[in-house]
Amino acid sequence: MFNIVLFGAPGAGKGTQALLLAEKFDLIHLSTGDMLRNEIASGSRLGQQAQNIISKGELVSDELVINMIRERIERHPDAKGFIFDGFPRTQAQARELDRLLQEKDMKVAAMVALEVDPAELTCRLMKRGESSGRPDDNSIEIIGNRIEVYNRKTTPVIEYYRAQEKYHPVDGLGHIKDVSQRLNKLTESLLSQSVAG
Ligand code: UDP
Ligand code: MG
Repeated sequence: MFNIVLFGAPGAGKGTQALLLAEKFDLIHLSTGDMLRNEIASGSRLGQQAQNIISKGELVSDELVINMIRERIERHPDAKGFIFDGFPRTQAQARELDRLLQEKDMKVAAMVALEVDPAELTCRLMKRGESSGRPDDNSIEIIGNRIEVYNRKTTPVIEYYRAQEKYHPVDGLGHIKDVSQRLNKLTESLLSQSVAG
């Protein structure tokens, strides 16, 4: 089992890079943001609750995302490992994830953090808003709030994993291919350590 948390601000490139990593290392990609958007698209009760929150750039409850993640993990008992994309977003979620994995004799091997400066993030999100159809990418106010929520509630997750010596920052600037190569190299090395350990 080899599980990684792919961490980064909104617009850091988590979704794009998570797909590439999942493909290369044969891991299951779990994006709570994608799950929530699917719930919204299907018109489920959960989706209706989430829509309101997401459209403001706020976070849905810890309990809700943990339950979604639990269900997905249990769907893939034979997985080689998981990439968590956009989750955990709070320290409480990080603790709950550890608890959940522990129950199943699993653990987070590493947290890989894509680092991108704030000006570049806003620029990327505005650009994405032109094509993604995501309402939360289309307004400078909502983007601003998402970054504020990230700074206040999500960045403490770095300390959580740093304390476990699992925090690995990676430069998220440059071409998708270049960032991908950096991530592949780091992941290779983490994977060999996890096999050795
Ligand atoms: N969201 C959330 N919890 C999650 C994942 C997503 O509350 O675990 C909500 C939150 O409002 C966030 C939005 O969904 O701003 C989009 O999340 P996603 O991870 O797709 O955005 P990204 O960071 O990739 O731009
Ligand atoms: Mg994303």
